[in-house]
Order: sequence, then structure tokens, then C-alpha cells
Amino acid sequence: LYNLLQDLKGNIRVYCRVRPQKINTPTPVLIEDDHITIITPSKYSKEGRKSFRFNKVFGPSATQEEVFSDMQPLIRSVLDGYNVCIFAYGQTGSGKTHTMTGPKELTEESRGVNYRALNDLFHMSEARRETFSYEISVQMMEIYNEQVRDLLATGGINKKLEIRSSSQKGGLAVPDANVVPVSTTSEVIELMTLGHKNRAVSFTAINDRSSRSHSCLTVHVQGRDLVSGTVLRGSMHLVDLAGSERVDKSEAKGECLKEATYINKSLSALGDVIASLAQKNSHVPYRNSKLTQLLQDSLGGQAKTLMFVHISPEYDAVGESLSTLKFAERVATV
Ligand code: ADP
Ligand code: MG
Repeated sequence: LYNLLQDLKGNIRVYCRVRPQKINTPTPVLIEDDHITIITPSKYSKEGRKSFRFNKVFGPSATQEEVFSDMQPLIRSVLDGYNVCIFAYGQTGSGKTHTMTGPKELTEESRGVNYRALNDLFHMSEARRETFSYEISVQMMEIYNEQVRDLLATGGINKKLEIRSSSQKGGLAVPDANVVPVSTTSEVIELMTLGHKNRAVSFTAINDRSSRSHSCLTVHVQGRDLVSGTVLRGSMHLVDLAGSERVDKSEAKGECLKEATYINKSLSALGDVIASLAQKNSHVPYRNSKLTQLLQDSLGGQAKTLMFVHISPEYDAVGESLSTLKFAERVATV
């Protein structure tokens, strides 16, 4: 029934989350039910305020648990054989990693979507053990400057990986990235720690690589019906996207300009793909970036997409907040 209801609502949903302020100052962000309003200083717009509506808007006081409980049914549909993509979008510092992973010092309460999603899959599959036998495994990859790397590689992440074309149905999109079977949350925590470490050490020369690359935790679920023998395959991609902030082309040079160009290209490619799915266009431009190629089999068709857009509540973020919300508005089908 849940999946039926979900289908009626469409397969693309957009949630917005506004993080708490660092220091208490006046904020240009107002939240009312499923609306978010940005009060715009005169340099951005004449009207003085701009409102957007999404499937859900979470304010600064929303806890990790509240945010997750709303996504739970979506995550559970993976066990029924659906493919799900969850994206965290927003400028650097807006709370993407907080939502997906959590703060640096993780507690059970502050754990983000990645841990909670896997934990939920473990519990749900356990609850179905009389009727289904499930196998759950994960991959963790990074896309940096349009190159895919394996964050779970044990000998360093320098090897560049190929993405298989989607004509080869049923297989893994990146067969050469380590696939690790998991059955407990502590195994997941261990793997994510390895992934984050791999991400941090490989390119110490480059500042804050994590905000300049996309990271993707892919969960593969295979369930066998113990009576009929039918096999269901579902997958879930949990994507912490690179910061969406516009980089001043006249100031960025060398490596920074290259990074900015690639990020821009892949985020617009993602926006184009989701927007054309939302509009039910017959041609969907998957080929324009590594990110959309990687996710091709999980975007569109029966797959479900949740775009989580993040907003910083400060006045100096208004320009980026407006462009984030416009991006979100374009892919939303509210
Ligand atoms: P991003 O990944 O988008 O660059 P982060 O997730 O690293 O942003 O968030 C920036 C800072 O704000 C971090 O110190 C993070 O812990 C904090 N933060 C973000 N969102 C929240 C939230 N909802 N509640 C509390 N702290 C948050
Ligand atoms: Mg981050």
C-alpha cells in the first residue's frame, strides 16, 4: 500500500532543511509548514521576499531522528526491490554532511541518514526472515574532477574506475569498486570510517577535498522469497554532493577553476536529468556527467528520488540560498 501511495505522489520528492545558526543573529529565513521564505536584501530582488514550497521543510530545531523518520518508508521500499537515490544538495557549510553522516563526534543520537538507513534495512530484513532471505552489501565511491574512485579500496584510492554502460542490466554500475557484505551497524561504521579516512589522506595538498567532490554510499539489497524462490534486487544511493556555491570564474585559477568547472557541470547535469524525469520527457540526458552515468539505472523508471536541499540561515548566504532553492524548485513536482 505504501508504494502505491508513493506512486500516486510521483517518484521525485524534494525536502528542504535549514541548519541552526552558529551565533544568534537576525535571519532572512522564515519557515511555515511546507513553505520556506527568504527575505531578500534589495540587491537580489525588488519584492523583498521569495517563497518556495516543497514536500517538506525542516527547520533548525529538527533532529536527525525527525528528519530520518520521514524518509523511512522510502528506505524500506528498497527491500521490496525498488531503486532509491537520496541526494544532499547545498552550498558548503549548509549541513549536507550533517544530514547524511552526522557531526565529527558521532553519538547514536547524532548519526545521520547513512547509518540510520542501513540500521533500518538490517532490522526490517531480520523481521522478514521467515519469508525472505536478504543479503546487504555496500560500495563507497567518490567522484572528483569527473573521475570515479573507490573509497573502500584497501591500498589507497588512486585507481580510476570505469562506469559500465547501463545496457548491461542487472550488474553493478562500478564493478571494480569493492563490494562489502554488511549485517551490523558497527560494520557500517567501520567501513564509513575507512571511506572518510581514504578521502581525507589521498589529497592532503588540496584544500577541503570533501566539499569539492561527490561521495556516494551505494547499498545493494538482494532478497530471495523463501517460498517461491523469486529474487528481488533493490539498491540505494546516498549521495553527499559537492558544494553548490558558485565560484567566481575571474578569481579562481588552476586546480580550483578546474574543480569548479567540473562541479558546476555535474550539478547542472543532475538538475537536468531530474527535471526531465519530473517533466516526463522522453529523452533524459544521463551521459553529460559521471554522476548521472553512475546513477543512471537508479534515476527514472520505477526508481524513487529524494533531493534534500540545505540552507544556511545567515544573511550573507542569501544569494546561494536563492540559487539553491531555484535549483530545487526546478526538480520539484509539488
Ligand atoms: P556541508 O557538508 O554542507 O559543507 P556540514 O554538514 O559540514 O556542511 O555543516 C557545517 C557545520 O554546521 C558543521 O559544523 C555541522 O556540524 C553543523 N551543522 C550542520 N547542520 C546542522 C544541524 N542540523 N544541527 C546542528 N549542527 C549542524
Ligand atoms: Mg560536507
